[in-house]
Amino acid sequence: MRDIKFLEVRCANIARCCCEWIGCIGTLEEHVAKCEYTLVECINKCTFEQKIISVMRKDLEHHIKSECPNRAYKCKYCTEEGTYASIMEDHGNLCLKKPVPCPNTDCTLTLERGRVVEHVASECEHTVVACKYHSIGCPERKKRKDIVIHEEDDKIHLHLSLNKVSQLDETVAQLNHTVSQLNGAVEQLQVVVKELTGKTEKEVSVSIDVPNLELEEKPVMCSSLNLSSHFHNSISRVIQVMIDKPEDSV
Ligand SMILES: [Zn+2]
Ligand SMILES: [Zn+2]
Ligand SMILES: [Zn+2]
Ligand SMILES: [Zn+2]
Ligand SMILES: [Zn+2]
Repeated sequence: MRDIKFLEVRCANIARCCCEWIGCIGTLEEHVAKCEYTLVECINKCTFEQKIISVMRKDLEHHIKSECPNRAYKCKYCTEEGTYASIMEDHGNLCLKKPVPCPNTDCTLTLERGRVVEHVASECEHTVVACKYHSIGCPERKKRKDIVIHEEDDKIHLHLSLNKVSQLDETVAQLNHTVSQLNGAVEQLQVVVKELTGKTEKEVSVSIDVPNLELEEKPVMCSSLNLSSHFHNSISRVIQVMIDKPEDSV
């Protein structure tokens, strides 16, 4: 009777592919352990549907070098390192050096992601911008490449400037009027305070902090708000003095 270990067998991998190995059963285990067609797990433990991917031993090197999503990988645009998957997905969506198209549809430029904001804000010919005279009322908005021609139209902008100047004149006149009304009210208050201090026979110290209103010499627009709050404070103080006065001295 022949010894069983000399029985000839084929490699089990023949069912899945084409290992031609035939040998005696005693050496089968040793063959399978190094058979090119045996499935082996990826050494980077990459997974597909939560299972570690296995490839035939003959393909493992290629998988690790060029297919494995867990292989070490460096971003080709910057110095960031990680796995192939992390660089291509997470980092790929953030990398400031990665070339991306300008978001303005008609612009054909591709530029580093980190420069896009600056490009759109101050360079791109296709960004819609306001006319530089918008502060004097020009409502025009055009692509940067077209706004320059519009801005050279002196006629429109001179007309707008004149309108603006007459508006400002009106505002100044209104403010002057308000200030002179306030001046009058302050003068009346000073008279009232004088009368009150005379009647009490004792010194009632009321100081009204009236700003020196020399309208011709001072800018009017910016002082009007301060002035009305001064006025309000002065009135409050006079009323306080009247309330605090003892009854018999009225
Ligand atoms: Zn085999
Ligand atoms: Zn892998
Ligand atoms: Zn990068
Ligand atoms: Zn652009
Ligand atoms: Zn304009």
